[in-house]
Amino acid sequence: MDHRSPRVEVDRGVCIGSGICVGSAPAFFRLDGGRARVRDDAPPDQTVLDVADSCPVEAISVLEP
Ligand code: SF4
Repeated sequence: MDHRSPRVEVDRGVCIGSGICVGSAPAFFRLDGGRARVRDDAPPDQTVLDVADSCPVEAISVLEP
């Protein structure tokens, strides 16, 4: 995706460390201290956007460009 790709952020204060996002999109998310974090410079693909909707506590935000 280009520079107009959505930005994806994890609210680590809300994340409960379920690992769903990391398991579904390990190239994009990683666990750090028991909570998810977005890997640096990783462009989101459709899988990532779908995973954002799957977070059980809605900790993943998709910010449209
Ligand atoms: S799916 Fe949500 S709660 Fe689970 S690790 Fe990812 S951000 Fe955290």
